[in-house]
Amino acid sequence: MEEERNIPDAENDEQEHIIPDLRPKGFTEYVGQKQVVETLQIAVKAAKKRDDVLDHVLLYGPPGLGKTTMAHIISNELGVPLVHTSGPALEKGGDLISILTHMKYGNVLFIDEIHRLPKVVEEFLYSAMEDFAVDIIFDKGMNARSYRAKLEQFTLVGATTRAGLLSPPLRERFGIQRSLDFYTDEQLQKVIIRSAAILEVEIDADAAIEIAKRSRGTPRIANQLLRRVRDFAQVRAEGRITRQVSYDALLLEGIDEMGLNLFDVRFLNIIIDFYNGGPVGLEAIAATLQEETDTLIDMVEPYLLKAGLLMRTSSGRKVTGLAYSHLKKTPPKKSSVQLELPK
Ligand code: ADP
Repeated sequence: MEEERNIPDAENDEQEHIIPDLRPKGFTEYVGQKQVVETLQIAVKAAKKRDDVLDHVLLYGPPGLGKTTMAHIISNELGVPLVHTSGPALEKGGDLISILTHMKYGNVLFIDEIHRLPKVVEEFLYSAMEDFAVDIIFDKGMNARSYRAKLEQFTLVGATTRAGLLSPPLRERFGIQRSLDFYTDEQLQKVIIRSAAILEVEIDADAAIEIAKRSRGTPRIANQLLRRVRDFAQVRAEGRITRQVSYDALLLEGIDEMGLNLFDVRFLNIIIDFYNGGPVGLEAIAATLQEETDTLIDMVEPYLLKAGLLMRTSSGRKVTGLAYSHLKKTPPKKSSVQLELPK
């Protein structure tokens, strides 16, 4: 059914094309992630003071938490241009080399989804990051010759949803490595109030917290829900977003008070109804949902785990008591059969 495939859209940034100005432009506008901001603020300031190039930065965490935004802030604060690419877009070594050879001193190269970089491309990055040089090989076999091309010094900012998939040699070349965490409701409320001001829509503080609570700890989702609620307010409530308006609009979107959408509910229900609450392997759940396991790992599970609705055990995924009570289901009774232990 169409609406049941309503995966939280934290990956697809449709909103950026319509309302590009929601992205904070500087460290002071960036809500939350205090320690990450402070680390980067110091590193940027120090690099500028020494007239040096900023160390390479690796940012990791679930989609929509502000990795791309932070990469842009780093380049803004350094006052240098940013080149934006992604792991899957760099198919051959030549794709990366042509970008690197055009980089100017101190510029920022941002590679999103860096864990999806093909191995052949990744290998060029090692010397580029460490020695600011790439070894280009001409011909093959007996005639093979290599030529070392020097590059201008640059800063690589890598973003990934799966730090664990990064090979150690690549990971070790990042001088600064930081993970972004889910945001609190109060931080998301700030994001929403800030975005509403940019969108020129009036919003009450208690309406913003109502939206924040359903945003799965993710600013991108908060902004997406704000747009839906704004549409609803404009059509049904003279444009002002009150608590009642946000409540009604989000109900219509099929999002419950914990921020779960129909897909999350279906995910949990499958474990409960088909697998007795688990443990069950993720592949089995993915097959039942007809969804990619990677999508479930990146976009669905992190929030369910964080919200305490799901557990990862050595034998598979298991729903928690909270999931049963939230979905108003009765947990299975513990087996009444007692195991006879050998004497
Ligand atoms: P990621 O790269 O981690 O997937 P993005 O940087 O694209 O996430 O962030 C998604 C959207 O959420 C941005 O367009 C921005 O509007 C908003 N956003 C992210 N982080 C913050 C933040 N700390 N403060 C305010 N808005 C944010």
